[in-house]
Amino acid sequence: MTKAIACLSFLKQNKIHYYYEESRNTIKFPCFTCQSQIEMNTVTTKWTCTKCVFTGNLVTLITYQKENEVNKLKKVKVYNPTVENREVRYLVKKIDEKYHTKETEKLRDKIEQLLKYYNEKLSS
Ligand SMILES: [Zn+2]
Repeated sequence: MTKAIACLSFLKQNKIHYYYEESRNTIKFPCFTCQSQIEMNTVTTKWTCTKCVFTGNLVTLITYQKENEVNKLKKVKVYNPTVENREVRYLVKKIDEKYHTKETEKLRDKIEQLLKYYNEKLSS
């Protein structure tokens, strides 16, 4: 069993941006000390920052958050492919609606097809 719910509620409560990949049992979020992106295993809650070598588990984060200021982390965004996918589709749709040429329509179809391909590949 994973401890994902405990980890996610901790990050949510502290308004820290994250990306949860349930199929990989991982949560990505900014490192509490250097703000580069780190990955936590939701089974063990362990994580290691490859940039500043800060390491620990959920308890380490809770302790750190109580002793330090983590407000700066609220501004750090973690790359979220689901959100990016939605935004790319939206922008391409807007461009196609605005210019409506054969090329924009073709581009829109091709991007939709490509994103669909990667979504299926990711979820399998
Ligand atoms: Zn770090």
